This record gives sequence, C-alpha cells and structure tokens, in this order.
Amino acid sequence: MELSASVTKISGVGEERAKKMQKLGIETVRDLLFFFPRTYEVRGDVTAVANAPVGSTVSLVMKVGTDVTFSKTKNGRVMYSFRAYDESGSIFVIFFQSPYVKQIFRQGMTFRFYGKLSWFGKTLAMTSPKYEPLIPGIPLPYYHPVYPLTAGLNSKTISSIVHNALDTVQNQITDPLPEDIRLSYRLPTLAYAVKNAHFPLDRDALSMAVRRLAFDELFAFALLIAKVSEMQRQKAGVRIEKPDFAPLDAALPFSLTDGQKNAINEILSDMTEQKNGAMSRILIGDVGSGKTVCALYAAYAAIRSGTQVAFMAPTEILASQHFAAVQKIFKDLKINAALLLGSTKKSERTKILSGVKSGDIHILIGTHALLNDEVEFQKLGLLITDEQHRFGIKQRANLKSKNESAHVLVMSATPIPRSLALALYGDLNVSRIFEMPKGRQRVDTYVIDESYRERLFGFIDKQIKLGGQCYVVCPGIIDEENEEEESRSFDDILSQRTDAIATKTKSVTSQSEELKTVFPNYKIGILHGKMKPAEKEAVMEEFRNGSIKILVSTTVVEVGVDNPNATLMIVENADRFGLSQLHQLRGRVGRDDKKSYCILISDAKTENGTERLNIMKSVYDGFMIAEKDLIMRGPGDFFSSNQEDSFKQSGEFHFRFASAERDEKFMESVFATAKSLIAADPQLKEPSHLALQSYILPYVDTNITTIS
Ligand code: ADP
Ligand code: MG
Repeated sequence: MELSASVTKISGVGEERAKKMQKLGIETVRDLLFFFPRTYEVRGDVTAVANAPVGSTVSLVMKVGTDVTFSKTKNGRVMYSFRAYDESGSIFVIFFQSPYVKQIFRQGMTFRFYGKLSWFGKTLAMTSPKYEPLIPGIPLPYYHPVYPLTAGLNSKTISSIVHNALDTVQNQITDPLPEDIRLSYRLPTLAYAVKNAHFPLDRDALSMAVRRLAFDELFAFALLIAKVSEMQRQKAGVRIEKPDFAPLDAALPFSLTDGQKNAINEILSDMTEQKNGAMSRILIGDVGSGKTVCALYAAYAAIRSGTQVAFMAPTEILASQHFAAVQKIFKDLKINAALLLGSTKKSERTKILSGVKSGDIHILIGTHALLNDEVEFQKLGLLITDEQHRFGIKQRANLKSKNESAHVLVMSATPIPRSLALALYGDLNVSRIFEMPKGRQRVDTYVIDESYRERLFGFIDKQIKLGGQCYVVCPGIIDEENEEEESRSFDDILSQRTDAIATKTKSVTSQSEELKTVFPNYKIGILHGKMKPAEKEAVMEEFRNGSIKILVSTTVVEVGVDNPNATLMIVENADRFGLSQLHQLRGRVGRDDKKSYCILISDAKTENGTERLNIMKSVYDGFMIAEKDLIMRGPGDFFSSNQEDSFKQSGEFHFRFASAERDEKFMESVFATAKSLIAADPQLKEPSHLALQSYILPYVDTNITTIS
C-alpha cells in the first residue's frame, strides 16, 4: 500500500467511514498517519484507591470483588454495579443500561479502570469507566491517544484504524530529512516519530517523537522563510517617487507623532531608494500607537507614483473600518478606494474587479479575499497587511508571488521576542513606534469577582451617563457547561501538569439578556462571528455613531476595532483569555483623551489564570505583555487564540509541537541550518534535498515552490 492510497484501502475503513474521515481532512493513508492525537489519557499512572483524589480522573488497578448486580433508578434506567478493590480500599463501579457488563466483570478478575472518582451516596464510585483486563505478561499501554472527533467517529475507532494503517505501511514512511541533519540534531526517524506520536511506548518515546515533529515544523518553516527571503532579495520593486505630502498632511485631523514620522521615513526610503530590492518591512507598534496612518502615507506615495495599493485586514469588521477611515481621508484627494469582502455581492464584485483591473480603483481594501486569483491589478505597487500575525508567511509568500515586484508593508501590534521574530519575520526589516499620540491616558485595570457584579452595573451606568460607551466581551456565543476534559498540550502531558478546571462560561446571549433587563433604557448590541457580515457592519456602525451604548461581543472586537468614544471594557471569564488577547481587548478603550477603564471579571482559581490577570493589573506595555504571554503559553496558542473569524480557515502556519520560547537556542540553530541549506541549494535540487520539496509543501501553496 502506498502512503498516497485512499484510506479506504485500510482494513476497517469502508465508504461510510471514509466519508466521515474526510470531514476531518483525512483522505489518504498519509493524511491519517499525520492526524495526531489531540491529547492522551495517561492510564499508566496508576494510583492506589486510598490515595485517589475524589472528583478527578484517575487510573486504578482493581480486582472485581462481587457479582454484578442491577437495580432500577428513579428515572427508570437500569444501573449495573459491583465492588472492586485493591490493597488499599474498595469502591463501587457503576454502568448504566449496559447488561453486557455482567459477562465482562467476573469475581476475581483484575482490570485497569480509568475514570472519574466521585461520591455516590455514601460510597465512592466510578461511573462508566474505561477498562482493560490485566493479562499477566502483556503490559498495558501507558498512554491512550485521544483524537479530535467528528460525528460518528470516536477516538477508539480512529485509534484502531491508525493501528491497522501503521501495521501495513510503517516501513514505507521514508525520511525526507537529510541523514546528516537528522543525526546532528539527534532525532529519531520520521517513522519512529509517527508511530510513537500515536502509540507512545513510554514517556521517553513520546518525548522523542514530539521533539522530531517539532523539529520538522520549525525546519519546514525555516526553509520556507529562507526561500522567501532569497526570492525577495533578487527582485526589484516597482518604482516609487516621493510625492508632495502637503495635501495629505492637511487632510489629517491631527499632526503625526515623532515615532510615526520616523516610521514613515523608513518606509519611504525603502520604497524610493530600493537598496535591497522591493520593500519588505514590518511596522510594530503597540495598540493605539497609530500605525494605520503610516500605512496611508506609504499608500499615498504608491498611488501618486501611478501604482495601486492592496490593503488586507484579518477580519471583515476591520476591513470595513479601514475602508471608512481611508475614504474619509482620501476622498478629497481624488483617490478611489473600494472594499472587497468574501460577502460582496456578485454585481458589486464584478464592478470592483474591473475597476481594479483597469486601474480606476487606486486602493483596494479587504480580507484574505484579496488573495483570490480573480483579483487582478493593473499595476500593484504596494501591499499592506494589518495585524500581521494573523497572516502567516504562507499568505505573504502568496501575495508576493502574485505580483513579484510589489512592496510589502505589514503591521503588527504584537511585539515578539527575538527567537520568534526570527521565525516569523525572518525576511522583514523592522520599524517600531514606541510612543503613543499625545493626551492618551493609561487604561486603569481592575480584576473583580462575581460579588462585585451589582457595583459593576452602577459603574457601567456612570460611564454611559458621562458620555462614554461600553464593551462587554464573553468567551462564547451561547451558554455551555465546560467539560473538565479539556485538551491538554503536549507540554502538559510531558510535564504531567493537570490544572485544567471547569468553570461556567458567560455567553454573548445570556449576558446581553441580563444587561437588557438591568438597563432597559440603553440600546444594547451584540456582535459575534456567526453573524452575517452586513449584520456585523450595521451593529458596528450603530456602536460607532453612539446609538448602541453597550456592545456585548465575542473576541471579534479583539483586533483593531476603533471607537474612540468607548471608555469601558469589561471582559467576562477573563482568565480564559491569553495575555496578548486581553491587552488587545484593553486597547479598544482609551483611544481618545477620555479616562478609560478595563474590568476583568474572573472567579477562576487556577494559578496560571490568576497570574495572567495580575500581570494585566500591573503591566501596561504591550511589548512586555507579549513576552510574558509567549513564556506562559508557548507559540502554538499564541498565534491561534480563540478567534472565530476567517483567518483560522485561511491556512496560517501553526506550530503544534514546536515551542519556540523554550527552545531559543534550538530555534536559532534550526534557522541557521535552513539558511545555509537554501544558500547552497536554493531550488532544493540536490538528490539528498529532493524530498524536502514535498516536505515543505504541506505548509505552502503550490505556486511558491515553483518560483525561484
Ligand atoms: P493601531 O496602531 O492600533 O492600528 P490606529 O492606527 O487604529 O492604531 O490609531 C488609533 C487611533 O489614534 C485612531 O483613532 C487614529 O485616528 C488616532 N491617531 C493616529 N495617529 C494619531 C496622532 N498622531 N494624533 C492623534 N491621534 C492619532
Ligand atoms: Mg490597527
């Protein structure tokens, strides 16, 4: 069987299952082998009954002590139960509606049980545990893989399918990594890594497998960056002349800060002097430092030089907001702007596309829809992408390959430590804005618990009466009880950390209902990712023009949303958000000279959650926050946050195994290796490098590998 064969070739997979697997993105045997567990049940970590903490999920090895008896519960279900014991004590084991358990559990047999220990009346019990019979001489696996689920495919099914697949194709997993590199990094083979990521023999094996997979992620990524930089160095950019900026200066309602002026100068000299080919620059500045206007100066120069500008934002809300701002400033300067979203109607879209093609439209604003093949510019001079960490290298590479000589400016409010900057922006020059526009005050931040809720209502009222507006951010759209079995990261598994706890989370729906009854006289709006773009835009408009006083939303407002009149940001279940996210949310207020507040509500008792909130109270500098965030969460989470908007589907690069903050040295070394490999063999044409072409392929769109 080939790795490229359809999963239907694996025993146990018919058409029906194949369809379900397709929903998980699994079509070939290879896809399946690289579909890794979400987490593992650590069943090998056995405790004694007497030591097992009530309320947690534990592994117990016990003998069946009684026959299975059954009884009816009040609501008519049949309960099967028996006692089981080890040397330290005994508990009840309970199953509902499962007559077959009588055949399985016979007195005197020993099983390993895995489940949650809880009080059942006056005795301790495990209800519906997972169980494995202990057979002398056959060791039970220490870890059980837990796979992401889809309707009709449970983890056990996937696990057995993977098992079957590995049985037949294990020897065909060839290693794309040149042997000398693999050995010098002391890595296991890919075949070993794949097998042990699914079915780790023990902790060491899991750790080695993760190390190898982490290396692959970093190395593929590093190769890609090295390749993109190599390409970029060889290209001359579109010619741009410095225009007379007086009309633009006059159109702005404020004067630029020194930081902005400095950034604009750096950008313009990149574009006009072109010492290193086309511009590749990232502009980093804290939330609210005024990056957008810098981009508009660059756009103005490009347009006055007879070229066009594409301006991409990570969300539709943000794109619409940029469009409004751009129109306001550019309207009287005879510059035509257009907004293109995934949801733009067909007729409108056709009109825009032909305007872009003919050159009538000077600046096109949108989301990743601008990456579409149908978007054809007459002469693209500059690409601007906002909040760059949402656009991975892959998109950037795509953009560049689309129009080889356009200048590229990316903006980011997420300052990042060196190791990661290297990974993310290895091919970019950096400009930084350190200062804020004059008159900005610090957003005072408080952490409160439920007991303050009444007083909070009073505070909201006061802020609105003072003329301000309020955001309330909730983690979910509708109410749901959060199950304890959260997915744990590989780090957690390896370090045996278990501090995920269950709390009830607030939702946009329930909070807006509550606020409506408390404040019948204020208009309350809701906003979340499931709403249609037009609905979202209408709500944002009403919030911006002040008719909506309180906006209850998910984190769709996280990135870049600008309503300078808002003075209060309330975050429900604040412990559920990452630091950078909280900082971004806080950045939605204090965007004017009015005093603003950020109130973080939390009843969480996890150490990590509490620490994060304490950092928010004392640290206001975005650079420091991002650094702490990275240290606490690792880069995987750092980039993916729990956003619901479009970029999640847009294929951003996602580190699943790699952990840059922990492995700074490792990381730098991996990047150096990639760089020298690409320098020696830019096309990856040498026999020992050929396999690397397909190795980086999963991380890139096809067109980039063909350009060289
Ligand atoms: P960010 O860097 O977070 O993207 P924005 O570009 O959205 O920040 O700017 C934040 C707010 O500050 C906007 O309302 C913008 O109009 C305003 N602003 C930008 N530059 C200045 C300035 N020099 N003086 C006063 N206000 C400014
Ligand atoms: Mg911005």
